[in-house]
Amino acid sequence: KYRTYQVEKKVLTTCPHCATGCQYYLLVKDGKIVDTEAYNGPSNKGLLCVKGRSGSFDFVHHPSRITDPLIKNKETGEFEKATWDEALDLVASKFMEIKKKYGSESLAGFACSRSPNEDIYMVQKMVRTCFGTNNTDNCARVCHSASVAGLAMTLGSGAMTNPIEDITKKPDVIMLVGSNPEEAHPVVGMQIRQAVQRGCKLIVVDPRDIGLAKHADIHLKLKPGTNVAFANGIMNVIISEGLQDEKFIAERTEGYEKIKEIVKDYTPEKVAEICHIDAEDLKKAAIMYAKAKMAPIIYCLGVTEHSTGTEGVMSMSNMALLVGKLGREGCGVNPLRGQNNVQGACDMGASPTDFPGYQKVANPEVVAKFEKAWNTKLNPNPGLHATDVFPAAIKGDIKGLYIYGEDPVVTDPDTHHIIKALESLDFFVIQELFMTETAQYADVILPGVSYAEKEGTFTNTERRVQRVRKAVTIPGNARLDTDIIIDLMNRMGYPQPHLTAAEIMDEIASVTPSFGGISHARLDSEEVGGRGLQWPCPTKDHPGTPIMHVGKFARGLGWFYPAEYVPSAELPDEEYPIILMTGRILYHYTTRAMTGKTEELMEIEGHSFIEINEEDAAELGIQNGDKVRLTSRRGQIESTARVGTKVSKGESWMPFHFPDGNANWLTNAALDKYARIPEYKVCAIRIEKA
Ligand code: SF4
Repeated sequence: KYRTYQVEKKVLTTCPHCATGCQYYLLVKDGKIVDTEAYNGPSNKGLLCVKGRSGSFDFVHHPSRITDPLIKNKETGEFEKATWDEALDLVASKFMEIKKKYGSESLAGFACSRSPNEDIYMVQKMVRTCFGTNNTDNCARVCHSASVAGLAMTLGSGAMTNPIEDITKKPDVIMLVGSNPEEAHPVVGMQIRQAVQRGCKLIVVDPRDIGLAKHADIHLKLKPGTNVAFANGIMNVIISEGLQDEKFIAERTEGYEKIKEIVKDYTPEKVAEICHIDAEDLKKAAIMYAKAKMAPIIYCLGVTEHSTGTEGVMSMSNMALLVGKLGREGCGVNPLRGQNNVQGACDMGASPTDFPGYQKVANPEVVAKFEKAWNTKLNPNPGLHATDVFPAAIKGDIKGLYIYGEDPVVTDPDTHHIIKALESLDFFVIQELFMTETAQYADVILPGVSYAEKEGTFTNTERRVQRVRKAVTIPGNARLDTDIIIDLMNRMGYPQPHLTAAEIMDEIASVTPSFGGISHARLDSEEVGGRGLQWPCPTKDHPGTPIMHVGKFARGLGWFYPAEYVPSAELPDEEYPIILMTGRILYHYTTRAMTGKTEELMEIEGHSFIEINEEDAAELGIQNGDKVRLTSRRGQIESTARVGTKVSKGESWMPFHFPDGNANWLTNAALDKYARIPEYKVCAIRIEKA
């Protein structure tokens, strides 16, 4: 399309949708982005998916953008335009009033995982220095917090171990667990498919017939919520067959004897019964994985979004440790992070337990270091996780909330309890582009800007820090997000000079050892050559770290976590006999606040649907395309039935993108004990013809 017209400029930047981190040009004509053009970036190799090609610029110029600060009129309930001074004065004074009356711990602030690192760093700094609390978090809490916690505990670093290129170009076997990359990380999905075409074997472990299952050598269509049993079964077979890497175990791990004792009971027959899979297929998968020269485990939310999500993640580590497939090319344990900069949001310290670079709040030396760097007294107590903030608001313990670019009414489980929490707050502020479902509950809306209107960096799923560049001017009275935050900090009494994004990155590098060698100037330099830098990158002459844990784990020895299988928190029963799983589809990005502004994407997929097994549908008198009523213990919605065999009997699946039937009215907010991640992947529902 772009060839049919002259563009005035092409701006190289990073796609704002998933964490693949594809590089592309924004093509600008008459001050507007009119198209994108793929660039040969390190993670995308000149490829883009439909969201990158079509869904990443209509929202930038959409007429529904909020471009003035809005304050809700308490009497009418309507939002009214305000000046920046009015809005910022009100926000700063209300938060400080709450702090004075109820204490610092009554405030919380969440950062946006779709925003650049520089914005996120400033949000957590504002919460810590001005609110005086560590009640800060980001949406990783509801997607990959289990990866951050689980991989940190077992390996010492909660991030993908190997680059995308390495785990798709080199291995002879790929084990894909609870991940549907053709929909959620399409350019990774394309590269996995290319790997299969060149002869790489593929093991798919997923409760659904995802697209890649058709290309798999083995598809273990396991019952949702049984990942730990599956992994223990794989390890049982590997040990029974004598395929474990004794040298690696002896030299580089601890805890082997305990896990060996545990997995002894997870015979293929027992695991087949728990997971509803074939024992012979399990054996074949275990042997195929163990015997491969190079075999990465690639996983996603099918592993993490469970009440035992962290144990599921640690079970992925256990399998890789057992066969010594860590710290090597073409191997590793590789979580595909969801949002474009959710890796960065965790790295930047938008976390109740961690300062930037995973420096622990619980460590007094770390607190002292940040007190010195930021020249203020800091709260030494770890804060509340985002998923605990909402129940705390309902209890009256959280009174004031600042949300930057998140939409928990759509994304968080058990929508009723999220709305109840927002309505319980004394004061709620949101920094947003659009009037989202969550923004409607705010007292004040502060209009920030999109990725195409600012400078900064995103960190993709493979820890690669890449540039985000300004292509078009800021609309109306909207303001740079970092300027909004800095103005608020000054109004709340913390003297924060205005900084450019490059200057903020310099500050990040000065307090974050793993980012010590990263700067905008270096990312833009010929030396880096548009490939970004993968952290850890501690010094200005360090080339970055493509593969983690080479020779030594970040925690010293790799730790086998002794995980036992525990069933999901809510299982089907007579009243609610069907398991519901939730997930994403190719055409939309999380809340569809961005992709929903592209008419063509909405035309392809614009409405809620639920996948139902054909045997269940026949029993319930439901046909493909019928309207169905879905009920759980928490809510009721209507949707449209898609009948087939994609899901097994007794199971169902639906996306959470659509307001005309969002799965999260039904989902269960049961939380994982380590990471406090909710169990989106298993709840019990009843399905009836509407
Ligand atoms: Fe954007 Fe992800 Fe698609 Fe790449 S794969 S173009 S990053 S949405």
